[in-house]
Amino acid sequence: MSSVLLGCIADDFTGATDLANNLVRSGMRAVQTIGVPDGPLDRAAEAVVVALKSRTIPAAEAVQQSLAALRWLQSQGARQIYFKYCSTFDSTAQGNIGPVTEALMEALRADFTIATPAFPDNQRTVFKGYLFVGDVPLNESGMRNHPLTPMTDANLVRVLQAQCRRQVGLIDYRTVAAGEAAIARRIAELRSGGCAIAVVDALSNEDLLRLGPALKDLPLVTAGSGVAIGLPRNFGIEASAAAAQLPRAGGAQAILSGSCSEATNRQVQAFIAAGRPACAIDPLRIAQAQDVAAEVLAWAEPLLARGPVLVYSTAQPQAVKAVQEQLGVEQAGALVERCLAEIARALVERLGVRQLVVAGGETSGACVQALGIAQMQIGPQIDPGVPWCHAATGNGTGLHLALKSGNFGAQGFFTKAFAVLQ
Ligand code: ADP
Repeated sequence: MSSVLLGCIADDFTGATDLANNLVRSGMRAVQTIGVPDGPLDRAAEAVVVALKSRTIPAAEAVQQSLAALRWLQSQGARQIYFKYCSTFDSTAQGNIGPVTEALMEALRADFTIATPAFPDNQRTVFKGYLFVGDVPLNESGMRNHPLTPMTDANLVRVLQAQCRRQVGLIDYRTVAAGEAAIARRIAELRSGGCAIAVVDALSNEDLLRLGPALKDLPLVTAGSGVAIGLPRNFGIEASAAAAQLPRAGGAQAILSGSCSEATNRQVQAFIAAGRPACAIDPLRIAQAQDVAAEVLAWAEPLLARGPVLVYSTAQPQAVKAVQEQLGVEQAGALVERCLAEIARALVERLGVRQLVVAGGETSGACVQALGIAQMQIGPQIDPGVPWCHAATGNGTGLHLALKSGNFGAQGFFTKAFAVLQ
């Protein structure tokens, strides 16, 4: 099996998929693993993204998990390491972006790296070190009220410096616009001035493509998913449809939706309005110990031969609030997740489902865990940030999976998804 070129460590699950999706679109065959695998890869890949859940855990634990991921990636032959965080630079006052970056630098004996969450395709740009979300600086965006990682300063040099012992500097947009040689000169200048980490401006994909070649010899790159588009060329890899090729899809099709986000609500409504079979699950009935999963499976079984079925707990905010008031927020979430995960498992193991779409970040995590999936090959994109994936299953038939985080995807996502796979 050919060895891994680019080894990536992502601080959350859907962020890992987002990065893997960008790498595939730029020509690298990519596999995403759920946590640090305890064995080798189950198929060849040029890039591997280890998905951790380390964004908001204590910094020391995030460091430990990231170093474990690094060791595993090195054992697979990774030549360059990419630490991926959110494009809104989500972090607390203690980290975890700074501490993880410095621990990886130390382990890799790297005296210099870059940091930039720029992702112009998603309206994340960095100008003079300030991060913009759409038209406003980070601290004026919705991120200022984030429940776990409120971002109240858009100046990334300042934000990162507060989390680091090493000195943080800036490679500004003029240098980036001037291209590889100018960026290399600036890196040399920063290095000789004692600076170890540089925030990099980027306003467009062209900036990211100009940045790519200048990063060729860095053992470590830290970024959102945007920088990934400029790296495959450093390994002699060009964009190609072959990178997104998955094994042939077959079997029955199903959608499980536990997301209550606005976009998902619209997608569920569109699927129902198109006259497709859909079955709602009621959290209060699950709480009363009714066997909701068995009812849903009995409903789905005769329909699966005729096309995709949808099982959803997706509801409007007032309905969700009413349920949460009765059951508690966490209890309601956990009950629904467990029920959907049990349905996912039965659909795949008993009813022949081989193409499964799951809507909701937490819901996806629960389903992937119940299905015992540890590695997924990343395939073609359905909508921005959401690709089809393929995972090996115990009985050898394999499963095609699309994991959609809440606000992703256009209105017709559920029907479009299966069309993309054909
Ligand atoms: P998103 O990606 O949209 O945030 P998640 O799956 O991450 O979706 O989160 C949705 C949460 O809401 C899950 O914990 C899920 O179990 C819970 N949930 C889903 N449907 C309902 C409902 N009808 N009432 C209460 N909670 C729900």
